Amino acid sequence: MNIGSKVALVSCDSYDYDKVKEAVDKAFDLLGGLNHLLNMPKESSLLLKPNLLAKVGREKACTTDPAVFAAVGEALQESGYKNLTYGDSPGNPMVPGEKVAEECGIKDAAHRLRIPVGQFDEGLQVDFPQGRVENKFILCREVTETDGIINICKMKTHQLERITGAVKNTFGCVYGLNKSAAHARYATAEVFGKMIADLNRLLKPKLHIMDGIVAMEGNGPQSGTPKAMNLVLVSKDPVALDGLFCHLVSLNPELVPTNVSAMEQSVGTYRDIQVVTEEGILTASEAGAKYGDKSFDVQRSSGYRGTLAPLKLLAPLLEKKPIVKKALCIGCGICVSSCPLKKKAIEISEGKAVYDYSRCIKCYCCQEMCPEEAITVKKSLIARIADRNWML
Ligand code: SF4
Ligand code: SF4
Repeated sequence: MNIGSKVALVSCDSYDYDKVKEAVDKAFDLLGGLNHLLNMPKESSLLLKPNLLAKVGREKACTTDPAVFAAVGEALQESGYKNLTYGDSPGNPMVPGEKVAEECGIKDAAHRLRIPVGQFDEGLQVDFPQGRVENKFILCREVTETDGIINICKMKTHQLERITGAVKNTFGCVYGLNKSAAHARYATAEVFGKMIADLNRLLKPKLHIMDGIVAMEGNGPQSGTPKAMNLVLVSKDPVALDGLFCHLVSLNPELVPTNVSAMEQSVGTYRDIQVVTEEGILTASEAGAKYGDKSFDVQRSSGYRGTLAPLKLLAPLLEKKPIVKKALCIGCGICVSSCPLKKKAIEISEGKAVYDYSRCIKCYCCQEMCPEEAITVKKSLIARIADRNWML
């Protein structure tokens, strides 16, 4: 069976463990089974890499749900893969991944399955001379020592890249503060996407599982709204997986820089995706129509990238900027420390966060890391209308 750009799609309407395990097992079976998908010696070490962005409860839909994590871990063990570890480097380098795992329930799930946490408290430089924009990465030690990464990502919106799914989830393999440094170095969505594509070529995760049972829409990836999508997706191809995510939420996959760069660099493809379901094989559009939700709140409008000067003048009308909801801000300063600029574009003044937009590069790290959901991204009226109406 050629599993190139195939994505298995299975419906699952709750985080009840038995239902999730059945859905995950079915998804693996639809692609020929775990042994076929991994094709690795059973003694291989495998790192389970969930999304552990921030220390919040599972009900926020910010992190990979523990039921999905456990179902994948148990399925691997049942297939004979016993040499497992897990971990992630959260967005805030001051918070250890284990604490995030504890808050969302993944630590408990891992403990039940006797899967130890990996070494994420040390970074090692790994050279990648063939990188297009980055020729070295500082990776967490565990990432450098494992035989294979099992990428267990979450279906969420993202202010810089529109969505975060399988391709972007690898960013948590980068050690601690180096993630913030990367945001400063690769300040636009496009160049950041190229760096993420380089990282995917270096890491080459063995398999990608997306928790889309309850996704996050709107002000993601930390402060958005949980949205039931009732889906588990599995693929060998992270770009096909993210491409299908786009179709399921009526977003043009070509508007997602991580998709475009990863496809350019042959990480995978978002074209001609075959969606393998229990009822048969569907195209991505057919799967979108049957299983998707057009009301999913995601940025669908495209900024103007051409060269005609009169049209360029319209570009600012589609721009979006981070703003602080003063009533929610507690002045903790996490946004300031997550700003990657040497001369920060946000500061605390009279107990509240305040922007200096003349410096801000719109990387949205502050919005991503605010624990109080006090930062949102303000869109112009035209951008809001476009997001609601510019469907595939
Ligand atoms: S905006 Fe958020 S992160 Fe920044 S100081 Fe206020 S509460 Fe803290
Ligand atoms: S203020 Fe926020 S959006 Fe602006 S550069 Fe700093 S982290 Fe990025």
